[in-house]
Amino acid sequence: MLECSKSRSAFARACRVIPGGVNSPARAFGAVGGEPLFIQRGEGQFLVDIDGNRLIDYVGSWGPHILGHGHSSVTTAIQQALARGTSFGAPTEAETELAEMIAEAVPSVEKVRMVNSGTEATMSAVRLARGFTGRDVIIKFAGCYHGHVDSLLVEAGSGALTHGVPSSPGVPQGCTADTLSLRFNDAGQLADTLRSRGDEIAAVILEPVVGNMGCVPPQPGFLEACRELCTQHGALLIFDEVMTGFRVAYGGAQSRYGVTPDLTTLGKIVGGGLPVGAYGGRADVMDSISPVGPVYQAGTLSGNPLATASGLATLRTLKESNPYDALEVATTRLVQGLSKAAMNADIPHQMTQVGSMFTLFFNPEPVVNYDVSSRNDTARFAKYFQGMLERGIYLPCSQFEANFVSACHTPADVDNTIAAAAEVFATLVDR
Ligand SMILES: *Cc1c(COP(=O)(O)O)cnc(C)c1O
Repeated sequence: MLECSKSRSAFARACRVIPGGVNSPARAFGAVGGEPLFIQRGEGQFLVDIDGNRLIDYVGSWGPHILGHGHSSVTTAIQQALARGTSFGAPTEAETELAEMIAEAVPSVEKVRMVNSGTEATMSAVRLARGFTGRDVIIKFAGCYHGHVDSLLVEAGSGALTHGVPSSPGVPQGCTADTLSLRFNDAGQLADTLRSRGDEIAAVILEPVVGNMGCVPPQPGFLEACRELCTQHGALLIFDEVMTGFRVAYGGAQSRYGVTPDLTTLGKIVGGGLPVGAYGGRADVMDSISPVGPVYQAGTLSGNPLATASGLATLRTLKESNPYDALEVATTRLVQGLSKAAMNADIPHQMTQVGSMFTLFFNPEPVVNYDVSSRNDTARFAKYFQGMLERGIYLPCSQFEANFVSACHTPADVDNTIAAAAEVFATLVDR
């Protein structure tokens, strides 16, 4: 057993003043049982908890740490920015540099606005799409998570899915009345919906590679169909690349799959571990935002100097070192090893992978949408999660999450992870 007495008491203390002891529900171990570990520090591919356990980390703060924890170029950039001041409420040149880097990297982005979280990015993109088109209805796909935006909390993935609350109390009926939730990877259903209600639809928003019902790649032709149908019906196509941006390729899923949306939302990696989001796209659409256009959106700390420095250093390092091929090779070796170990133990499963994102689903059917993903064997996942944790492997504490490999993970880490999984799978076999 993992020694965790200090985490236990830290959690008890936290629970007295923080709801559930955590500042975001994805951190609670509700879906797998037990209590969260409290982290003391991150070092490259490792997390060290307050009991001194050193764990191989496949969460990476839920996506941002593609370079691993505490990359020297990022921490140095933050320290240098800190010495100059934490916030000015006036423009800085670094914000323009970051915007230029994003526009250069992400095919759809001509102009970009920085915000402070992925949620803020999707909320703003939806408002912009409605303001620009003069239409109200948004189409989303079940199992895609776009942050805790009122109008998008309809059959959301990840936290809401795990905790069995498809829509949250506190979201008035009116907020979701203009949101339609369709099946991911079902271009026919999207075509039918647009055929009947096309002139009401402001935007279609999706995770081009879903991360928030586990990693679910788009089937061939699906993204292309979304693009074509949106163009045909005058709706904007929004790719929520908060997770996939700078992850599945430097230019995100849109560069990997060669499909260009009208608007893109970013977060996670673009902040390098600091609270950052961004939304960008076609210049004519983006110029509808105030102060140029009438659609209001603002932020006291948007483009914050520390966050901007962190994001800039992360993107520069990614651009210069181009770790994407190596990440994909390492991840492929890991998922093949895990699959083989699961097969050897006769564990029904599906493995999905795009670049350095992957999910091992305890499910015999190919996971192509939320209907299938909701049939995952979550009890078996909980045992797998706990078994891996005992062996020093820190996985996302839900079956409905993507795992992330960082540029710091070594072949030895991959081998150790596969060996741990083989041991755990042997304990999962039905007797
Ligand atoms: C994480 C995530 C969000 C929300 O970002 P926050 O920074 O947590 O608000 C939105 N969309 C996707 C696809 C995400 O993965």
